[in-house]
Amino acid sequence: MLKTNAWKLWKQEEKEKAFSFSEEYKKFISENKTERKFVNKSVELAKKTGFKDITAMEKIVPGDSIFKINKNKQVIFGKIGEVPIEEGARFIVAHIDAPRLDLKPNPVYEDEGIVFFKTHYYGGIKKYHWLTIPLALYGTVVSKTGEIKMIEIGDKTDDPVFTITDLLPHLSRDQVKKTIEEGFPGENLNIVAATIPMEDDKEPVKKNLFSILGQYGVNEEDLISSEFEVVPAGVARDLGFDRSLILGYGQDDRVCSYTSFRALIDSSEVKRSMFCVFVDQEEIGSYGSTSAQSAFFQFFIEELLEKTKSQKSLRDVFENSRAISADVSSLLDPGYKEAYDLRNAARIGCGACVERTTGGRGKAGSTEPTAEYIAWIRKIFDENNVHWQPSELGKIEQGGGGTVATFFARLNIQTIDCGTGVISMHAPFEVTSKADVYSTYNAYKAFYSAE
Ligand code: MN
Ligand code: MN
Repeated sequence: MLKTNAWKLWKQEEKEKAFSFSEEYKKFISENKTERKFVNKSVELAKKTGFKDITAMEKIVPGDSIFKINKNKQVIFGKIGEVPIEEGARFIVAHIDAPRLDLKPNPVYEDEGIVFFKTHYYGGIKKYHWLTIPLALYGTVVSKTGEIKMIEIGDKTDDPVFTITDLLPHLSRDQVKKTIEEGFPGENLNIVAATIPMEDDKEPVKKNLFSILGQYGVNEEDLISSEFEVVPAGVARDLGFDRSLILGYGQDDRVCSYTSFRALIDSSEVKRSMFCVFVDQEEIGSYGSTSAQSAFFQFFIEELLEKTKSQKSLRDVFENSRAISADVSSLLDPGYKEAYDLRNAARIGCGACVERTTGGRGKAGSTEPTAEYIAWIRKIFDENNVHWQPSELGKIEQGGGGTVATFFARLNIQTIDCGTGVISMHAPFEVTSKADVYSTYNAYKAFYSAE
């Protein structure tokens, strides 16, 4: 059977495990809504279980647990096994950035007594989703002297929040006739920031705002060298009377990054070396120095070869290794069946999704693992009682999506897409099933332990 509902199949004990795992997952994604926070928190957790930064290590031996951070926005974790890495390692690659709104370098303006922040959206969003909801700000401001200030406002219960306003229905006769594209231009995603004026001729509210920001040690010029990420405020919550689902921000792709991280931490028998490779900038095409296309990954493997005193080359490591590109898949949304091929769509609660192709229209941009590799994945998942389902993203002509699989497959590492199914992907609050989250964790654990 290709699709079975995990809740029907699982015994009480398994259901309880899925629920308790989901509690930890919800907490993690609620507290770590940016790539920087993901890196900090995962490193902190890993250190507690004995992981060490390889930068300071001269020699790496089997049994070592290691990590390396790239510019505070990317991190690789690994456990070194008895089998030399050039004979094949296991890589799970996931991205830790998520769709959001970024403040522009010169964001602050005042209009009719309201001060706004101008934003530039990051990743593929439906812009109208982001109006009239409470938003939180996460900022990293770096002064010319290199001093770093971190600002977080909107996620603590007594914090103020921010929002983008929208026109009332009573006056929307013209607005509702527009296409979604025309009705919600990116330049209108402006965030309400303040309304109390100070004594000043031209921009009294703006002046007051900067006196408040001054308390954080931030002036207008410093915003040029800042990263302010605007994300939905609020924690991930249980969804539904039966609490079977999770509603939360950034589950693409923190559901796969968190589950793969946990799978690595929880894997105690390490024959082959196993790694979590977390990348940034996936939602904007993977072009930067902390993205999947950065040479950081190759340099990391080079450093490993040096420090394990191996005489072999990258070529050997890549040729013999296996990878999972751990990214979310789209679950069939019953309200929009016309966008899916019902025979091949992923179903909610039916386990981790294994995707042969993520591309639409002639498999454009797809990585296409071999049948042999898919067969191996099937075998190890079934042998380890992983609940999983084969799936494709949607109807051929409806679009398609890429993942970082391509950047690892091109190194000649066998790579397959496998991750959790999501409804309302890229919306401020995305939906997953606890059965699928837990199944994804089990899938990654099976992959790490497989021969
Ligand atoms: Mn995405
Ligand atoms: Mn993704």
